[in-house]
Amino acid sequence: RIQRRNIQYRRDIDFFAPKLIAIFESLVPADEEIAKQKQLINSLNKLISREWPHARLHLYGSCANSFGVSNSDIDVCLSIDEKELGKAEILLKLADILEAGNLQNVQALTRARVPIVKMMDPETGLSCDICINNLLAVVNTKLLKDYAMIDPRLRQLAFIVKHWAKSRRVNETYQGTLSSYAYVIMCIHFLQNRRPAILPCLQAMEATYVVRVDNIDCAFFDDVDKLHAFGARNRESISRLLWAFFHYWAYQHDYTADVVSIRTGTLISKHSKDWTRRIGNDRHLICIEDPFETSHDLGRVVDKFTIKILREEFERAANILQYDPNPTVTLFEPY
Ligand code: ATP
Ligand code: MG
Repeated sequence: RIQRRNIQYRRDIDFFAPKLIAIFESLVPADEEIAKQKQLINSLNKLISREWPHARLHLYGSCANSFGVSNSDIDVCLSIDEKELGKAEILLKLADILEAGNLQNVQALTRARVPIVKMMDPETGLSCDICINNLLAVVNTKLLKDYAMIDPRLRQLAFIVKHWAKSRRVNETYQGTLSSYAYVIMCIHFLQNRRPAILPCLQAMEATYVVRVDNIDCAFFDDVDKLHAFGARNRESISRLLWAFFHYWAYQHDYTADVVSIRTGTLISKHSKDWTRRIGNDRHLICIEDPFETSHDLGRVVDKFTIKILREEFERAANILQYDPNPTVTLFEPY
């Protein structure tokens, strides 16, 4: 692959690694917070099983994929086999159950793209969104969590990238920028493609975890304890990786031709997916393949205005990491 612009790292790039690690550590939730989340799920499970003995709650999203910062809302999925009721009716009934169980601000959003019930637990102070039978999200949560256990640099990189994206307001899907989920996938892809590689491609290995969800076969190697030394031959520091991540997205990624795919562990062509032109509202201006729903481009929300904003932010970040005397401060300055 031709690299369109190759700049040398600044000479002192590794000097910034301890500062970035300190930022990462300040973002990681404390153990008490994780305990509170478990407590809330247990009490919700008790409440719901009285009405629906076979239903179960699963945590998904950042509270369960190990990429969650402290004080984020928790994402919960109710898995329920209920033939009589439609999704909207299940949600309304769920809202009644929660209200009767003294949860506060209970709201059923039955018309949202992903219909949910929102609520707040006065005992723990946690807010949570509950969706119905979104089991693919539960499986992709496990995939991300398993990747995180292979090399600590993935969590460090993804927390810092998410923190940057939130500070710069490019983590707002309803405004045409990317989801946290998309940023984590971009980080995994990036680490799969370092040389030597820092992460393997779990979906290309012998499958030890196999489930079929919504007619999609999800299969990957999940015995990640065996992979804890996988990235050891690569000694790059977190600051060097962050520099290279932003340089890649600012100056090297081929936006006209390539799709990021952690399913295959490489770049694949837009052509092979027929993602070369706009179809409906899917513009495919930055292409990030969902690891299981492979027809789903996580970059579909990006339009011709927001692609410019995103690319300018990637360039700003790359240039700060290259030249700024105080990059670990300037990078996160609010937009
Ligand atoms: P945050 O800390 O910002 O809340 P998050 O990890 O919870 O981060 P979200 O983008 O809120 O990220 O997504 C929550 C979960 O929903 C993801 O972990 C993923 O399982 C699922 N998800 C989100 N967006 C998509 C999508 N476009 N396609 C498939 N699954 C998605
Ligand atoms: Mg979330």
